[in-house]
Amino acid sequence: MIKRILLGTSVLLSTFGVYAQNVKVCGTDQHHEEQKALNPDLKAAEAQAMAVWNAYKHSDEYRIALGKSQKKSAAPKYIIPVVVHVFFGSAGSSDNISEAQIQSEIATLNKSFRNLNSDTVNRRTGDINGVPFDFKQTAGDAEIEFRLARKDPNGNCTNGIVRIQSANFADGNDNLKKTSVWDTKRYFNMWVVNSINKGPGLAVAGYAQFPFYAGGAWSALTDGVMVINREFGNIGTSNPGQTPNVTTTSHEAGHWLGLYHPFQAQDSCESENDGVDDTPPTFFDPTPTEPLRNRCNNPTFNTCSNDKYAITISDTIYTNDTAYTIVKRDSLIAWDRPDMQENFMDYFIGNCASNMFTKQQIARMHKCIELYRRQMISQENLISTGVLDPVSACAPTPAFGITVNNLAAYERQACVGTAINFVDLSYNGTAGTAFEWNFGEGANPQTSTAKNPTGVLYTNAGNKTITLKVTNAAGSTTKVFENALVIAASEALNNSAFNYDYPTVTDGWIFKGDAIRQWEETSNGVYSGYKGIKLRGNSNAMTGTAYSIVSPSFNFEGTTNPYIKFNYAFAPNITTGTTTSSDQMVVQYSVNCGLYWSNLKTVSGAVLQTVPSALSSLVNFVPVNQTQWKEVLVSGATIPKSANVRFRINFFNEGGNNLYIDNLSFGKNVGMDDLNANDISLTVYPNPFTTTTQIGYNLPAAAQTTVEVYDLIGKKVADLFNGKQSEGIQQVTFDRTAFGLTNGMYFVKIKVGESVITQKVLVN
Ligand SMILES: [Zn+2]
Repeated sequence: MIKRILLGTSVLLSTFGVYAQNVKVCGTDQHHEEQKALNPDLKAAEAQAMAVWNAYKHSDEYRIALGKSQKKSAAPKYIIPVVVHVFFGSAGSSDNISEAQIQSEIATLNKSFRNLNSDTVNRRTGDINGVPFDFKQTAGDAEIEFRLARKDPNGNCTNGIVRIQSANFADGNDNLKKTSVWDTKRYFNMWVVNSINKGPGLAVAGYAQFPFYAGGAWSALTDGVMVINREFGNIGTSNPGQTPNVTTTSHEAGHWLGLYHPFQAQDSCESENDGVDDTPPTFFDPTPTEPLRNRCNNPTFNTCSNDKYAITISDTIYTNDTAYTIVKRDSLIAWDRPDMQENFMDYFIGNCASNMFTKQQIARMHKCIELYRRQMISQENLISTGVLDPVSACAPTPAFGITVNNLAAYERQACVGTAINFVDLSYNGTAGTAFEWNFGEGANPQTSTAKNPTGVLYTNAGNKTITLKVTNAAGSTTKVFENALVIAASEALNNSAFNYDYPTVTDGWIFKGDAIRQWEETSNGVYSGYKGIKLRGNSNAMTGTAYSIVSPSFNFEGTTNPYIKFNYAFAPNITTGTTTSSDQMVVQYSVNCGLYWSNLKTVSGAVLQTVPSALSSLVNFVPVNQTQWKEVLVSGATIPKSANVRFRINFFNEGGNNLYIDNLSFGKNVGMDDLNANDISLTVYPNPFTTTTQIGYNLPAAAQTTVEVYDLIGKKVADLFNGKQSEGIQQVTFDRTAFGLTNGMYFVKIKVGESVITQKVLVN
């Protein structure tokens, strides 16, 4: 089944006035297909979920549940504790959305799920081809209420909002989720980002994980919904003041509770589509030039105009809130309703909002809650997450960012002597009124009581631990950020070439792993020398995570041809069901101690793997000889000839096998030992000549240079130049009379560094 989402031409749920602009989609189906490809167990989990659902749909219990769900009750049947993780780039960015905007989304969700939205009057009734339909009666109260958590996983007071400054705030994906997640069995995690990365050509507004992911090892850190902040709530960055409300998060929460799109089976009006029968099947015309979905001003838009299908024995057709009919098995009826553009799970075009879940959708969500989200809705969890408590004020949670030259320094790395500004990013409760900073060892100044201290310098290199105490009316919180800042020596290594058998901390390398994996030294499976380094793979928990090593700094000033070269071995993980790995290795450089990084080379897919897929079925891949290694070489103009160049090898794990890195070399400061005539644009003019000629050449860098003339038998007959010359064009005059040379053949020999370039000249 191909999801039309992948076509990149569909439009968003809710409110887009102009079709051609700002086309956004729900990314749930695409994400789901990707995850199924990676995790065969997930396919089985989905099949089992559908089997359970279909059995339930044909039970008396189901009919009773449907009958009950038609009555709106005052108290919700289920309360769901919510945590909202807000990702933003620089301090003060509008991406750091307000608490009021978040509360507006919670209010919207509760209107959607309690059937309390003001636009329910827009639900249609009527008939199509003589068959009556009544979407007002088909809608129901889901009796689900969302509440921001009041206690965090450690039992501390919280407003249910976590704020994270991240370089990846505009690159929302499962990887980003893992950087801030609360126990997904106890909290409904919502991640709010600037944009979501789901492939080129797609503007994804949000995506969710279905409930049957629950329990999968791959899903524990990613269960929830991710939504862009322009679709979250109805004030602030989310289309301020628009009418009607944005319901993207309601749609994604529907997925998270087990609902599919009504066009799920796509291209077929005959199929059951989304597994519930009171949403009319819809057909998505994928023709990119045509609007795919209904517009609100076309109430009879009906993609499946003859959607006849066999209704099985216990299917239920509603005529009103209290009456329903059980249709007998195998009866074939004409069942023609327009597309239910009102449904939260459908897409359509125009300035009108989705406004309903159907009763069968609600029954399905309830069943999924009972099957998969039982712990979350338990009384014990509601107490421990604080959602039954009255709202109380919280002491702030300390957090900070740093900036250098007014730019956010995401990597939290800087050079000795760089002036760093600290920015208070504390959250949870009202803003802090008093601050106590300690910037750690070697800082000047050492402490500050300013909210946003500026101009802090470090006098020595090392990992710095920052302590921040923030106070508001509700109390104080002190937090120690261990190794929160890496200060690197600004002096670079200045030798002509560096070779490392393997990288070590002693030699100034920085290794970045995580709680799942750290880089290890290994003597088993090396390319050459004594040892190499290894990152063990084959863990679902690593998927989507970046691991890196950072080199010491090199001085490439005056370098001809700076380069980074290393060998690596890597195998994809075919045990996950994929034969082509999506793991990725990116080589980068920084000229400011790691404040900012630029890409030099990206290696991925089949190019990245160094052994055939068949070999990677070994859980613990070890390269057995040098043919199972590849070389990465980046050289030339893309590497800056600067005084302070660091390299980073970033490895993005997508479930692959082990990665080995060995035999690294960098260089080189002089680099003149393999030049040829073309490299220095050597010219001798005129040639042949009678008395004098000009020898011209272009030095790629300042170098010790000699220009000599030899005769045919190899005897030196003239010294034309010997000394240090600067980078650029040089010219030496050769006057044969000064050396008493007769007519004949000679050789001009230019020595630059270790290179010797020879040019034949003829005197006549
Ligand atoms: Zn969706």
